[in-house]
Amino acid sequence: MERVGFIGLGIMGKPMARNLLKAGFPLTVFNRSRAAMDELARDGAIAADSPMQVAQQSDVVITCVSDSPDVEAVVLGENGILAGGRTGMLYIDNSTIAPATSRKIYKALKAQGMDALDAPVSGGDIGAQQGTLSIMVGGDEAAFQRSLPILQAMGKNIVHVGAAGAGQVTKACNQIVVAMTVQAVAEALTLAKKSGVDPAKVRSALLGGFAQSRVLDVHGQRMIDGTFEPGFKLNLHRKDMNIVLQTGKELNLPLLGTAQVTELMNSLLAQGKGELDNSALITLYEFLAGL
Ligand code: NAP
Repeated sequence: MERVGFIGLGIMGKPMARNLLKAGFPLTVFNRSRAAMDELARDGAIAADSPMQVAQQSDVVITCVSDSPDVEAVVLGENGILAGGRTGMLYIDNSTIAPATSRKIYKALKAQGMDALDAPVSGGDIGAQQGTLSIMVGGDEAAFQRSLPILQAMGKNIVHVGAAGAGQVTKACNQIVVAMTVQAVAEALTLAKKSGVDPAKVRSALLGGFAQSRVLDVHGQRMIDGTFEPGFKLNLHRKDMNIVLQTGKELNLPLLGTAQVTELMNSLLAQGKGELDNSALITLYEFLAGL
């Protein structure tokens, strides 16, 4: 079995790493702050001192950190993965970052004889815990085939979309659909509430018809309960919207819906709600509705 390393034990990374342990992979972990690493060590992982040390002790290294600069720091920075890697090492990035950064990292690792896959995920904290994530992969076919037993321990729907960066482009498409669906659900449930109709019953009715979606199910329930513990933090979702908009700009592509929902997220961040779940978008709708 390949020795796997995992860096970034946040809301997503911790349960994903746990699923690798459950599948029997020898696992070395690193997290910037200590607590999550200690938890995984109690479950049987080896705790490392740096991303470099993870790479030194692993055949395949995975990251799930926040944003493009974080991935760059962990891979290319001092005591980073590149510094600890060797010919034949495979790097898999499960973070959501800019496609251009994924391509840059792919080239930097290839130049040192290492393989790289961008493999962002969808399915939220629940999918990460249940090992049912959808994983969208960019990179070389041989590296993809090698990654499959590892990715299958964390996800169910694993698609090799194309060359380096293609996984991140796919994730950008995913985030457009999720963001605008969150907005649609927030708008619909606000209309129900303002009309004096029970939003919980509206959600139940809609779940059996054409408006059915995972967002209506999971986020709709969070909106009705008014519980906005993440899940997926608004500041990370806004980060993804900026990636989408930047990718569109590079192509002179107008992304009208994305621009609008990003402005709503900007407003929520201005109100200090960035650490809440993205379903907290409904609080803005309720404010505008005088609810
Ligand atoms: P999170 O809970 O905030 O965790 C972020 C992780 O990255 C933490 O382990 C953090 O370390 C680490 N990190 C951040 N910057 C770092 C740096 N410069 N150097 C080293 N470590 C760093 O976020 P998350 O929800 O797990 O999301 C992780 C990635 O998955 C993001 O790209 C996100 O967009 C994506 N994603 C999230 C979801 C979701 O539903 N949450 C779904 C799909 C994809 P510390 O613990 O020390 O802060």
